[in-house]
Amino acid sequence: MTDLQAMYYLAGRAHHGVIEACLGDKLKDDRVDAGEFQKHDIYYSPDLRMPYPWEIKTTRSMYEPKSDYEKKFEGYLNQLTQYQVMEDTDKGGLLLFYLCLKQAGQFGMKPAIRFYKVIMTKAERVAKLKWMRGTKKALDKAIETKTHDALDLCPEFMCKECLWISKCSPCKDDPKRKQYDPTESKDL
Ligand code: SF4
Repeated sequence: MTDLQAMYYLAGRAHHGVIEACLGDKLKDDRVDAGEFQKHDIYYSPDLRMPYPWEIKTTRSMYEPKSDYEKKFEGYLNQLTQYQVMEDTDKGGLLLFYLCLKQAGQFGMKPAIRFYKVIMTKAERVAKLKWMRGTKKALDKAIETKTHDALDLCPEFMCKECLWISKCSPCKDDPKRKQYDPTESKDL
């Protein structure tokens, strides 16, 4: 982890902890802190289960999407929907804390909270579980063989500050990532 990544983590974790505390006593009303759970031989740890899984995220984005939520929240949804699969529930909650959102009619940027209820069909959960099992198998193999070729690439934004980029060379699988590869770009 780079120093900058550690700072990002610290900023996100600090806000995250305060938001969780504001939501009330964890032991009340069956509201349960994540903890760690295991199902289908896979470990998972949602932020909250109250009574369906929630994922809490902090974002520095200045704009909230008005459409195409699935694409814009792709990474968040990929994580949350896996908890929905594991908890076998059609509902999930995505709570976003915008640190500095520009809003119409307001001067400057202000913090704001948004909450999205995420609904999955049974068929979507079955398909996701199949993908999760495949990913677990690929991960096990990667650990055993010490090669990462069978794994999906991480979300693109992560490549920008990744310490392993020269070993990973993500532009081999995704030419759009050429810009992040120090062996390919003189700008970095
Ligand atoms: S360079 Fe590879 S390991 Fe690093 S974030 Fe990108 S895809 Fe993931």
